[in-house]
Amino acid sequence: MIDLRSDTVTRPTQAMRKAMADAEVGDDVYGEDPTVIRLQERVAALLGKEAALFVPSGTMANQVALAAATRHGDEVIIGVGAHCWRYESGALAALAGCQTQVIGTDGTFTAADVRAAYKPEDPYGAATRVVAVENTHNAMGGIVWDRARLAEVTAASHALGMWNHLDGARIWNAAVAQGASERELADGFDSVSVCLSKGLGAPAGSVIAGPRDFIKKCHRLRKMYGGGMRQAGILAAGGLHAVEHHRARLAEDHANAKALAEGLAGARGVRVLAPQTNIVMIDLERGTTAQAIERAKAQGVMIGAMRVDARSHPGELANTQRIRAVVHLDVDRAAVSRAAQVIAEVAAAL
Ligand SMILES: *Cc1c(COP(=O)(O)O)cnc(C)c1O
Repeated sequence: MIDLRSDTVTRPTQAMRKAMADAEVGDDVYGEDPTVIRLQERVAALLGKEAALFVPSGTMANQVALAAATRHGDEVIIGVGAHCWRYESGALAALAGCQTQVIGTDGTFTAADVRAAYKPEDPYGAATRVVAVENTHNAMGGIVWDRARLAEVTAASHALGMWNHLDGARIWNAAVAQGASERELADGFDSVSVCLSKGLGAPAGSVIAGPRDFIKKCHRLRKMYGGGMRQAGILAAGGLHAVEHHRARLAEDHANAKALAEGLAGARGVRVLAPQTNIVMIDLERGTTAQAIERAKAQGVMIGAMRVDARSHPGELANTQRIRAVVHLDVDRAAVSRAAQVIAEVAAAL
């Protein structure tokens, strides 16, 4: 089976399993796991932040960071389709007690959008406390933020006294795509969350990075949210291995995503969005995503449906039938060629 549903489906490599099996561990709730400490220090340094905290998932990383940066009743500004708003079970409202304001049309937005959306703290308004940026942006097809635009947004929100949070679940992909360091892409952000279990291929784990006093606050929230783990060094070792050995190879995934898109370029019944990283979005001209998913699976290729946010298509279709295919560590060029062939056949027959 060629599984393109997500880059989360990767399984740890033999070398990663070995690193995990050999990990030195302690009780991380007591702050005594040397491997977790090493991972936190390594990721903090990579992102150019003072401190970092290992958490079980990307959802917890975002939600703990956003809760730490806000008070109940505050507002968080986000782009269209933001993961922390669309795919985290309503946690921003349920746990952090925040309302959100969605700005822009393509997942990114401008400094002018931020200034227009900002509401100051007064007796009547929700105070706009945080701008949350997603880079790369998952729901919009793994797109990478323009760096000049990013710098303008972070400067504008700082000028208004806001906190800048980066959902950098796939910052590794953005760095490779732009030939920049993660540190450069995290510059201007007060807090950053990153995933180890997406393209990097670790079985679980995310990291929040930021100022030391902020990370201390996150530490207490992590325990409150049930994310305190004991001999977590077993997992952290997988994460460390991923950070050291799997970042540069993401270029291969990006090339394979391009090959997949090119393989579908002449196909009937599809419109392919040019991939910027490891995610390929394929719009069906006929039929439904459910049909395409079922028929592709019968031929050994697993793909997923992606709901299209009407805000990104003003005046058009709320019912675009969009498929997401994600390339990753466990998919090579031959698998990608086969997948292109299967998807083309399926779409043509819909
Ligand atoms: C996957 C993802 C997350 C959350 O990660 P989980 O580990 O699945 O909770 C957060 N943000 C983005 C952009 C993601 O793609």
